[in-house]
Amino acid sequence: MLSPQKRAEKALKVATKEGDKIFGIKQKFTVLENGFKTEIADCYWCEGLKTKAPICHGEVGFEAELVKWAAGGGIQYDVKEVTCIACGDPTCTFVVTEK
Ligand SMILES: [Zn+2]
Repeated sequence: MLSPQKRAEKALKVATKEGDKIFGIKQKFTVLENGFKTEIADCYWCEGLKTKAPICHGEVGFEAELVKWAAGGGIQYDVKEVTCIACGDPTCTFVVTEK
């Protein structure tokens, strides 16, 4: 059985790849020292919107529930959107870190 970290990593990696196929987008998945990062260059959550703060709460919630499920309670994660296309950033970037 994989560790909680590895299960969370695998779930996010697979979700990223499948999301690309389903939505026709390009996401970049990176493993960080204490978590993971996904970057979406053509985010469908905030397409056409302009805001002062990141607004892709749907993606934050999706990733939070996914890693919670995958880690099976072995690890707690925080998920934050750190850059958002709606704010003028080039990508929507989501950082998942161990609590
Ligand atoms: Zn966004």
